[in-house]
Amino acid sequence: MPSISERAWPGGRDAALPAWLGAAGQGPPRFDSVVVRGSGVGALTFAARAARSQALGGRVRIAGPRPRPDRRLVNGCTLRARSLDYLAAALGEDEGSLLEDLFGARRSQAETHVQHSTVARASGDGLALGRIRPFMDAERDGGVLAYGLRNGHLVELLAGRVEALGVPFDGDEPDTLAACRARADGEKPLVVNGSHRPVTDLPAPERPTRFVVASQIPLRRRADAVLPEAGSLICLRRRAGAFDTGVFYPFLVPLTPEADLYGIFYRIVPPAESAAARAEALGWMRRTVEGVADALGADLVDADETRGEAVVPCLPWDDVGTPRSDWLDLHRTYSACTPIITGDGMTRAALAGWLAAEAVLHGEDPVGPTNRSLHLWRGANRDFARGITRFTALTEPLFAHLPSALMRAIAARPDMWATVA
Ligand SMILES: Cc1cc2nc3c(=O)[nH]c(=O)nc-3n(C[C@H](O)[C@H](O)[C@H](O)COP(=O)(O)OP(=O)(O)OC[C@H]3O[C@@H](n4cnc5c(N)ncnc54)[C@H](O)[C@@H]3O)c2cc1C
Repeated sequence: MPSISERAWPGGRDAALPAWLGAAGQGPPRFDSVVVRGSGVGALTFAARAARSQALGGRVRIAGPRPRPDRRLVNGCTLRARSLDYLAAALGEDEGSLLEDLFGARRSQAETHVQHSTVARASGDGLALGRIRPFMDAERDGGVLAYGLRNGHLVELLAGRVEALGVPFDGDEPDTLAACRARADGEKPLVVNGSHRPVTDLPAPERPTRFVVASQIPLRRRADAVLPEAGSLICLRRRAGAFDTGVFYPFLVPLTPEADLYGIFYRIVPPAESAAARAEALGWMRRTVEGVADALGADLVDADETRGEAVVPCLPWDDVGTPRSDWLDLHRTYSACTPIITGDGMTRAALAGWLAAEAVLHGEDPVGPTNRSLHLWRGANRDFARGITRFTALTEPLFAHLPSALMRAIAARPDMWATVA
């Protein structure tokens, strides 16, 4: 009997990857050099693969600052294990060496083996949780599902790898395509945008009509913690016709070694009408993540120094094109849809960074293959966004009583978590 994912997505999660991938030989590329703008996961993954190419002869540089260590939980912390396959492919090493350098001997503390779900409701001054039930596990789904880390810790590791491959970090992030081109080591550069900031000499992107507000924090389990070890939790709280959504994952990071869990709550919202409305939306997320953490039996760790909060614009669901062939908006391509909500931003950045670089090195136009490789991920993201913003009167009882079926339908997509290594 084929698995759910094989029936829904014939060929599995990587069926849309191009046939030339992995074929012997490269190029010749249409460009003699690459400038990567930005220094996040997508930018560094692209740079790593490009830097290993003989055809480009090392003419790869990053127009952006080298990432610096910071205890704050800025950006994503749930690294789906599948991300490691794409990162390892781009870096030319194996998943084990990445895991060793990310986590060392305490790696198992970062691992999620079973995902659970529950609902939260107001109770007295705090929040109470419904029954916590598993809906996905590593045994059935092919291995460890995710690793909890600070995004910056991964980025610092990638920055070190990229530097070791000879790629310089060349100062601040330029505001224009022209300024990026001026930094190139060749006559015919490709500029790859790995930053969420647009350049000012290309058409401005449309104004966002939706945002995601989020608050996240590292935690330490108390002796009375109710979430099993190596277990994650997704928690819905119905409010004003939509869901506030939270996830809690096992976590390990060197700069906050006492934390063993992290939690985030987020909500899809219209543009804030004022700074006060924005602060109110963030304050609600903060109180909810802290209330659910307490109900789970976990304490905040150095909240003032470690809490991360964000209001991030949503992008359209569609394929991302390009106004000119020497500019690739990689960040917009892998960020398409709703940020944060499906915990796959790093996976998509790694997949897109690796695949776009492979396309360039094979002399292919990277836009089409990179968009196609992401369709599966965008579809899961769109379904989940709909699940938490519409039909909530139906979703909540289904989620409370049949979480496994519902989560598999809108979120779990079993084939998209564990590594294939
Ligand atoms: C609070 C939060 C929680 C997240 N949780 C997860 C997770 O658990 N797992 C996961 O895989 N990914 C998660 N993500 C997304 C993930 O961090 C990024 O998709 C990933 O790091 C790839 O981006 P980057 O590093 O290449 O680029 P960066 O430039 O470093 O991107 C950083 C972030 O900036 C955000 N951003 C985009 N536009 C703007 C803007 N105008 N203003 C402010 N920020 C903007 C992006 O969504 C991205 O998250 C989360 C992001 C945030 C902000």
